[in-house]
This record gives sequence, structure tokens and C-alpha cells, in this order.
Amino acid sequence: MKAELQKLIELQITDTNIRRLKNKIETAEQRRADIEQEFERHASSIREIQAKRDKLNAERAELEKQIAENKTYLERADRNLKHAQNQKEYETAMREIDALQKQVAAFETQVVEKMTAIEEVEKELETRAEEINSIDSKREAALSEFDTELAANRSEFDRDSAGRDTVFQTLPAQLAAVYNRLGQRSRDGIAVAEVVNGSCSACFMSLRPQMQVEVRKGEQIITCESCTRILYIATKPEQNEAAA
Ligand SMILES: [Zn+2]
Repeated sequence: MKAELQKLIELQITDTNIRRLKNKIETAEQRRADIEQEFERHASSIREIQAKRDKLNAERAELEKQIAENKTYLERADRNLKHAQNQKEYETAMREIDALQKQVAAFETQVVEKMTAIEEVEKELETRAEEINSIDSKREAALSEFDTELAANRSEFDRDSAGRDTVFQTLPAQLAAVYNRLGQRSRDGIAVAEVVNGSCSACFMSLRPQMQVEVRKGEQIITCESCTRILYIATKPEQNEAAA
């Protein structure tokens, strides 16, 4: 019985690993999309700041254009003032000059505000320069690492699946049927449960001392009185040494 129990334990370890790999393979597409989305979130927040800077620069350029235009009008108004033929023309030119000067001053104040805002945005971009410059290469690296791991998961899955079938076929038919029935019945796929600290690790029911002794011996298949899974107690390396 010891050899068969050992085979069941190994089978369970392999099957649990196969389940873990299957889950990873099945969720791979979503997990890959999550990685891409996370990078896209960063990239879009960077693009947002860059767009803000571009908008501010365009607004500043527009203000500079307005100032230049108004200065041209101002020159013309100055000429009108110099060539004023009468009091009325003189006053009109004076009023125009006054209005244009106020307008230019207002635009210049706005230019200063834009420049301050641009400076702040530039500072933020500078703080994130490392992130901005490395985001593409980091995304490539993360996705390539993910793909490498997935390929490894797939080949381990194939190898373990083939290996477990080979071991499974060597089990006595009745034991194989019990193993299958127990494994398929539970959601975690556990047919063979380790006894940890005197309790079944699948259902946490504690074992009577005599039963623990029997399980430890491993001479016959002992099943949990609560969940009916096949029980085993892992032999610790130091116990093996002591036995030797
Ligand atoms: Zn149990």
C-alpha cells in the first residue's frame, strides 16, 4: 500500500499544479490586457499633461499675436496724434492710444500668467521624464516577460498532463476510480489531503489520535471521516534521517 499511497500523493501534487497552470492559461488573455491597460493609463496621463502644455503654448502664441497687432494699431494712433489737425482728431487719437495701451497691458498680464502655468507643466513633465522616456520599453519588457512565463506555463502544463496520465494508468482500477470520484466531486479538485497539525487540511476536521497513527503508518488507505478524502502525513526529512 505504501507505494500506491505515495503514487496518489504525487498524483495529487501534480494534479493541483495542473489546475493552477490551467487557471493561469485560461486567465492569460485578461491578465495580459490588464498589463496593457495599466501602461495605457500611465501613457494617457502623460499625453494629457503634454496636451495641456501644447494648449498653453498655443494660447500664449495667440496672445503675442494680439499684442503685436495692437502695437501696430498703437503706432498708427501715434501717427494720427502727431498729425492731428484739430482738437477733435487729437482727442480721438488720445482715446485710441489709451484704450490700446490698456489692451496691450492686459494681454501682457495674461502672457505672464500663461508662462507661469507653462513653467509648472514643464516642471511636472521634467519630474516624470524618466517615466515618460522609459514607458514604451517598460511596456515591451513587461509584456515579453508575461509571454515568456505563459509559454513556460503551457509547456509545464503539457509535460505534467502527460506525466500524470502515465502515473494514473499504473494505479489499480478501483483506487483510480476513487481518486477520480473524490477529485471531481470537490471544487478544489483535492482527492488526497495532507494531515496538518492533526487535522485534515481539506476540511479541517481533527483526527482521532489512533487514526493519526494509522495515517502515519501509511499501510492502508485511510479516508477522512468528515470529507472522505484520502489522508496522508508527509514524512519530514529529519524523520527519514532518524529512521535511517
Ligand atoms: Zn477531511
